[in-house]
Amino acid sequence: MAYAYDDQNIFAKILRGEIPNTTVLETEHTLAFRDIEPQAPVHVLIIPKGAYVSYDHFAATASDAEIIDYTRAIAKVCEIEGVKPDSAEGYRLISNAGVHGVQDVPHLHVHILGGRRMGRMVPPAT
Ligand code: 5GP
Repeated sequence: MAYAYDDQNIFAKILRGEIPNTTVLETEHTLAFRDIEPQAPVHVLIIPKGAYVSYDHFAATASDAEIIDYTRAIAKVCEIEGVKPDSAEGYRLISNAGVHGVQDVPHLHVHILGGRRMGRMVPPAT
């Protein structure tokens, strides 16, 4: 079954400029912005500009240029936010997908969380 992309999702609206965001970094294929409900002192969402639902969708079908741009943008955001573990205290990168992953917004995003020590990687479902 092919992925169905809903172009009315909130991140698609952010990409079209219909909803404001606090941008951390913008590149040719990627946008990074602050989460509206931060779970840690650093909480940045990094999304590709293309219509991809999840990481596996992106990894399987995006162009090499998009994948390189997106991956490098993740590194740049870690640098901008001062969370790289070689020089600071590190971060957690999360990308939720689908129902079991408890993904709320169906446009690929990775969360970069830092600035405090995280809890257990996978807490019990509530
Ligand atoms: P998910 O559960 O899909 O992995 O995470 C979606 C994230 O998007 C949540 O952390 C939520 O706070 C964030 N979010 C939802 N709506 C908006 C919005 O309009 N603007 C921003 N900046 N973040 C949002």
